[in-house]
Amino acid sequence: MAEWSREAARALDAADALGPLRELFFIRPGLLYFNGNSLGLLSRPAEEAVREVLDVWRSLGVDGWFTGPNAWLGMMEKASAQIAPLIGAEPREVTVANSTTINLHQLLSTLFRPTATRRKILVDETVFCSDLYAIRSHLALRGLDPVGDLVLVPTVDGVLLSEEMLIDRMEDDVACVVLPSVVYHTGQLLDMPRLTAAARQREILIGFDCSHSIGCVRHELSRWGADFAFWGNYKYLNGGPGAVGGLYLNRRHFGRAPGLAGWFGGSKDRLLEMPAQFDPAGDAEALQISTPFVLSLAPVLGSLSIIAQAGIEALRARSLRLNGLLIDLFDTRLARRGVSLITPREDERRGGHVSLAHPRAEELCSRLHEVQVIADFRHPDRLRLCPSPLYTSFEDCFEVMERLESILDRL
Ligand SMILES: *Cc1c(COP(=O)(O)O)cnc(C)c1O
Repeated sequence: MAEWSREAARALDAADALGPLRELFFIRPGLLYFNGNSLGLLSRPAEEAVREVLDVWRSLGVDGWFTGPNAWLGMMEKASAQIAPLIGAEPREVTVANSTTINLHQLLSTLFRPTATRRKILVDETVFCSDLYAIRSHLALRGLDPVGDLVLVPTVDGVLLSEEMLIDRMEDDVACVVLPSVVYHTGQLLDMPRLTAAARQREILIGFDCSHSIGCVRHELSRWGADFAFWGNYKYLNGGPGAVGGLYLNRRHFGRAPGLAGWFGGSKDRLLEMPAQFDPAGDAEALQISTPFVLSLAPVLGSLSIIAQAGIEALRARSLRLNGLLIDLFDTRLARRGVSLITPREDERRGGHVSLAHPRAEELCSRLHEVQVIADFRHPDRLRLCPSPLYTSFEDCFEVMERLESILDRL
C-alpha cells in the first residue's frame, strides 16, 4: 500500500497536463473545495459568458435574441451540441432545457405508456428523493398505484446495488426502469451498458439520471441504446446554481409528441408565426417547453468550453486518479480510525466522488468546514468527498485527508 507524502502529491500536480485548468476557476485561497458534485465552482469563461449576456441585454434589449454570433435563440442548440459528446449521443438526441426534475417529468410524460399488465416503474431503493416523487406522481396521474406499481429494488448490503438483482427484477410487469448512472450517496457507478441491454431485451424502457456522472464519466448512451437520460448542469459541469438541465432522447423515439407541450418544442423556423396547431420538432428539441433560461445557459456554455478543451477521456482518467489517491490515503490514515469506505474500489465501479461512513459524519463535516474544507454530509452517516477533475489538485486531496485525520484524532 502506497504511503503518500505531500511532496509526492505535489509531484503528481507538477506532472499533470490538466493541472493548469485550475487557474481558470475562482477558488478562495486556502479553501479545499470537495463539493463539486453538488455545486461546481465558477470559472472565468462562465463569468465572461454571463457578462456578455448582460452587455447585450443592456445595449440591444430584445434584439439580443437574434443578433450576432451568440444570439440567445441559438444558445440551447449550441449547448446541446457540446454536451452530446459527453453523453455519447448525436446532437439531435440531446437538449439543454428545463431542469433535472422537470426533464424527468417531461420524459416520463412522453415515453411512459403503461398497459394493464405492463405498467410498473422500477427504481432502486436508494433513489434520489426528487426522482421518486416525480415517478410516483406519474403513476398517480395515470390512475395507477404510486406504491404498488413502484418496484423498489433493495441494495445488497444496505449500501451497494447489484446489477444482477436489478436485472432479475426486470419482469413482465415492468414498463420502465429509471436508475442513476452513479449513485449519489455511495459513488457507485452502475454498469449502464449491461442494464440497458437487459432492459432492451425485455422490451422495457430504460433511462438514467446522469446528474452524478455527466462531466466526469464517459457515456455511450446512444450506442448502448438507452431510451432516455436527464441531468443537472450545475454539478460537474459547473453551470452555476440552478443552471438549466439537460436530457437525452434516443432517436428511436423521435417524432413522438411531447407529453408536456410548449412553443419551444415546436419547429423554430415557425416560432414567431405562432401557429395554433403545435408542430413538434422531429428530435429531442421537441421536449423543450419555454423560452430559454438565457442567464443560466450562459455559464453552462462558458464552462463547457473548458471541458471541451480538456476532453472527457482525460477528465475521467484524472478523476479516477484523484479519487484513487483519496482511497490510498483512507487506507493508510483513516481505516484504523473508525471510518469505512463505502465507494467500490474498482475503477469501473466508481464515479467521481468517494463516500466514507462514520457514526459522527455530520460532526466531521462541520469540523472540516471550520478548517476550510467544504465536504458534504448525507444522512445518516455519510461523508462525501468530491475532487473535481477540473480544479482539484492532488495536493488538495492529500491535505483534506490530513485535516480529516487530525480531526478524528481529537474527536
Ligand atoms: C442533484 C440531483 C438532482 C437535482 O434535481 P433538480 O431538479 O435539479 O433540483 C436530481 N437527481 C439526482 C440524482 C441528483 O443528484
